[in-house]
Amino acid sequence: MSTPTPEEIERRKAAAAPEVRRIAFGEATEPPFSHPLNAEKRAGRYACAVCGAALFDAAAKYDSGSGWPSFFRPASETALGRKTDYKLLSPRIEVHCASCKAHLGHVFEDGPPPTGLRYCINGAVLDFRPADEQD
Ligand SMILES: [Zn+2]
Repeated sequence: MSTPTPEEIERRKAAAAPEVRRIAFGEATEPPFSHPLNAEKRAGRYACAVCGAALFDAAAKYDSGSGWPSFFRPASETALGRKTDYKLLSPRIEVHCASCKAHLGHVFEDGPPPTGLRYCINGAVLDFRPADEQD
């Protein structure tokens, strides 16, 4: 899909559910094991809940045991933006949607092969489309 205009992104931010806004634009974190997408195992794609950009493929999802949906790689190299987050004592790498800048979660270097990365993502900012429901 095409990238939404800044005006369209502002409109979608305003229309997003409070829980989505709190995480996406307040960099909040949902409680572990709280979101149904943590246990989702069907094939499909995960899009940004704010702007609809493709973020992750279900083929890269795995059970990290952390309580948050976890992936070992994004849908594409350009899907995510990164910045260093100094909120905790040791810096973490924050990841956000490259299209609308919505905060998604963090990436850690304790993931499985082939990347060794763990994208630890809030389920509330993901929009899951099962493979059999895609048009
Ligand atoms: Zn987005």
